[in-house]
Amino acid sequence: MSHSKKTRLYRLFEKFQCYILVFIITPGFYVFEMSVVRPTIVDTYEIGTTKHVFHIILSTFILHNVVGNMLMSIMFDSWSDKSNNDDDDDEKQCENCDVNRPKNVWHCKTCGVCVLKRDHHCFFFAKCIDFRNKRYYILYLIYVTISLIYSTYYNYYYVSSKFEGDMIIAAFRIINPMLRFIIPEPMGFKDLYLLFLFINIGLAVWSGWLVVFHMKNAVRGVTAREYRSTELFKTSQWRKNLLKVFGTKWYLAIICPLVDSPLLENEKDD
Ligand SMILES: [Zn+2]
Ligand SMILES: [Zn+2]
Repeated sequence: MSHSKKTRLYRLFEKFQCYILVFIITPGFYVFEMSVVRPTIVDTYEIGTTKHVFHIILSTFILHNVVGNMLMSIMFDSWSDKSNNDDDDDEKQCENCDVNRPKNVWHCKTCGVCVLKRDHHCFFFAKCIDFRNKRYYILYLIYVTISLIYSTYYNYYYVSSKFEGDMIIAAFRIINPMLRFIIPEPMGFKDLYLLFLFINIGLAVWSGWLVVFHMKNAVRGVTAREYRSTELFKTSQWRKNLLKVFGTKWYLAIICPLVDSPLLENEKDD
């Protein structure tokens, strides 16, 4: 199989899983939490109206930020300048795109374009993360982590309401399927819910780790590809660095993905 055919197939797969994430996993997760977990928790633990309404508002707010930031990250068009501009001598040529490539532009083999201030290529969004959609990408990760911790807490109570004290044994049965022979209880929906809880915890840890990694880079003013280049770190300018990612209206950006937040311009020497 030729290289380009392989890339095209990979690209198709990547876009397909992005569709699944946007149209099935994200809404499916929310619908499951709201229509299955929520009523059980409200009944089993006798949640009062005020607390119930608070949780509905809170979960709607989180959903709005998860979906909004996800769509904004995906919809941003990666920068690619097709116009040839011969003035600048230190610009290198990109052999793939056949354009001049300034210092802060990198070519993405998956997207097949040159991207200005490229951070990394995100498989889940089938998209390059660059200086313009980084704000949405990081906020997406933050809100996903919040929602995963939030849901893990209630999913734990939901799953324990299904078990009568045999939850730990069932947990061992999922971790080690061989124990099935020693603990001969047939696998039911209960075990599936427990497995779902495990996935929930795993995803929370993973997304939390990604938040720490990307926030560290944002504070240091470097891209994901430069995370080891200590000589590029500008940690003392952390305020400026954050304004370059979240924009001057960061206080609105962090609560609403629809708000425009102009990014702090780079100085000439950058
Ligand atoms: Zn290129
Ligand atoms: Zn890319």
